[in-house]
Amino acid sequence: MSLDTISLSGKKMEVSNKKMSFWESLYLVAIVKGLFITIRHLFTRKVTIKYPEQKRPLSPVYRGQHMLKRDDQGRENCTACGLCAVACPAEAITMKAAERKPGEEKLYREEKYAEIYEINMLRCIFCGLCEEACPKDAIYLTESKVMVASASKREDFIYGKDKLVMPLEMALRNSKNKVS
Ligand code: SF4
Ligand code: SF4
Repeated sequence: MSLDTISLSGKKMEVSNKKMSFWESLYLVAIVKGLFITIRHLFTRKVTIKYPEQKRPLSPVYRGQHMLKRDDQGRENCTACGLCAVACPAEAITMKAAERKPGEEKLYREEKYAEIYEINMLRCIFCGLCEEACPKDAIYLTESKVMVASASKREDFIYGKDKLVMPLEMALRNSKNKVS
């Protein structure tokens, strides 16, 4: 069998150059056929949803936007060790470490913290390796269940601590739930 005659999908059709008859040249049958297909689809189950008003349920292991976690007292867990950045195959994470000053014990759990922590969401492939590499339980992708929002400028996809750090109220609420 020649390769020209093989059809992997079974939908291969020979194109004919034969002259059209008068009725064929009016395209009436083709138009009616097309309309019939359109009308038939009006009564089939829709596969699309009205996003963002409607949202599909997410998988329990869905990897959404990263979250830098706080502990039960609302202190940031991240100690800017850099292991997540080293583990990241897309080189999406950058950070700048700083020393905790006296009086900042309620803000940061360890003596060292991330003064700047940025993730380039255009580079990120949401593999979760940063989460696995973190020795401090500081970064999670599954907790936020938030999708990275669309934007029109590249700079808007560089997420800093303002977008990544867990809201303080959420940390305190979580600790209350653990106690009760
Ligand atoms: S999820 Fe993967 S690609 Fe994204 S920042 Fe973490 S390690 Fe890098
Ligand atoms: S998120 Fe975790 S691995 Fe990354 S710098 Fe902070 S403590 Fe280290």
